[in-house]
This record gives sequence, structure tokens and C-alpha cells, in this order.
Amino acid sequence: MKDIYVIGHKNPDTDSVVSAIACAKIMDYKPAIAGDINKETDFILKKFGVSVPEKLENISGKQVFLVDHNENTQIADGWDSAEIVGVLDHHKINFSSLAPLFFHAEPLGATSSIIAKLYMEKIRADASLAGILLSGILSDTVVFKSPTTTEDDKKIAEELASIAGIGNIEEFGVEIKKAGADISGRSVSDIVEGDFKEFNMGGKKIGIGQVELPDISVIENIEDDIIALLNKMKENKYEMAIMAITDIMNEGSKLLFSGDKNIIEKAFSVRTENNKTYIKGLMSRKKQLVPPLEKILSE
Ligand code: MG
Ligand code: MG
Ligand code: MG
Repeated sequence: MKDIYVIGHKNPDTDSVVSAIACAKIMDYKPAIAGDINKETDFILKKFGVSVPEKLENISGKQVFLVDHNENTQIADGWDSAEIVGVLDHHKINFSSLAPLFFHAEPLGATSSIIAKLYMEKIRADASLAGILLSGILSDTVVFKSPTTTEDDKKIAEELASIAGIGNIEEFGVEIKKAGADISGRSVSDIVEGDFKEFNMGGKKIGIGQVELPDISVIENIEDDIIALLNKMKENKYEMAIMAITDIMNEGSKLLFSGDKNIIEKAFSVRTENNKTYIKGLMSRKKQLVPPLEKILSE
């Protein structure tokens, strides 16, 4: 095994964890995670009998291969003194390097799809690898409801499902999302920070969290606590802190935010009330939340 770690972003989601596991296995590297896994990822790793990778919160001095991210605000701490040997991702590119490296990006719905597309021959012989990659696709595309979903994602998912022995893909997708939506016993900060990403937009630091729920009413009585936490985060660190509560069944997102409401109102052509608004059809942070905000903030 080569002494290179394959690692996903901070606040790991299913796609970043399974991408690290799959790439490491295929390339004979070591898989790692940049933080604790969430309930959804825990559910699918147990289901397919795959162990949780080593946690590496600081990558200083290490050789790393990044999956499912490329912006330095999302890379594990110590990145500025790590050697990045490769990147495999499906996000917009905000990356530069001093040395040549492997870099592969495609606008598919999940990094898992790119890996499956590139290495299907190897995955065919490994049902549990196929199962976790299928989970990565279903998780990131919100069971194919996100506008980031492509025909390739659906085709690749079908092939993976047949290798993994999953009969009903969509039913399995909803099962995964339900495991991830179990917010019982989770604190407000855990819900907000569980899938929180930082972006640099026109020189301003913006933080955006997301939670995807089959029923968003479960969060109603803690909305004000979430906004209070966003206010604190804004004061300490951000120009703006936003939480998207994504409504899987009705296909939309409720945004809770701290910061200038004019930015939200202008970016999404909506009205806000008490730092809240509902945006119909909004499912994807990378495709529908980040670009309009970036446009306004870079003006
Ligand atoms: Mg991710
Ligand atoms: Mg992803
Ligand atoms: Mg996501």
C-alpha cells in the first residue's frame, strides 16, 4: 500500500467518504476521513460491511489525494503544508498548485459516479464497493431529485445496483435519506455543522450548511435556535451564514440565514421574513445556492 491518503472534505458526507474508500482500494492508497461520519454514512457502511476509514483531521506533511472537493476552505487542516498529488471531483474548480498533479473533474451528480465510470471493470468484482458507490450517488443526487443529476448518474447507478444486488434503487435511496434525516439526539450545532461548507465569494467568507429531510416540519421548533447559532457564526467568522433545510418530498428548501437580507432577496428573487424564506425547487447547494450568491457578492 502506498503512503498516500485519499481524503474527502471536512464535515464528510456519504459521497466524500465512499469516494475515498473506493479510490484508495482501486489505487492501493490509504482511505481517510477529515471528520466524523454522519448517520447516513454510518448506515450504509454497516449495510455493506465496510469499515470506517482512519480519521485524519490534520494532513500537514502528508501526501494526499483529494476526492469530492478542491477548495482550500474545505480541505482538512494543515493542507498548506501537505503535498496534494491528485484531485477527483464534481464541484466547481477553485484550485491552484505549484507542482503538476492528477486532476479529474466532471459535472456528474456525485464523485462516486466519476469513480464508477472510470473504474467499472474493477468495481464489477466487488459488490460492497458497488453498494457504497451507489449510496454515494443516491445521497448526493437526493435520490435523483437534485438538478445536478445527469443521465450518466442514473445509468451508472443501475449498473452498480445490479452488482450490489439492490432491487429497487429509489426505495433504497429513500431508506438512505431517512437514516440521514434522523435528527433525534442531535444538537442544533450538530445539525448545522454536520454538512457545513465555507466559500470564498468575491473575497468574502460565506458559510452554507444543508440538511436534507423527508419532512422539514421536524425542524420547525428549533428554527430560531438555528438562526441564533448562525448569528454567532456570522459574528465570529462570516460575512453571511446560511442553513438550507431541504424538503426532499416537496422539492424545495427553506433558507435560514444571518447577514444582509438584501443579498438573499436579490440573489434568489424572493422576499424574506425574520431571516427565513422558502425557495421552491432549490435542492442543490453547488448548483442553485452558490452560483447566484457568488454573482451578487462579486459585483
Ligand atoms: Mg460532498
Ligand atoms: Mg459529492
Ligand atoms: Mg450534499
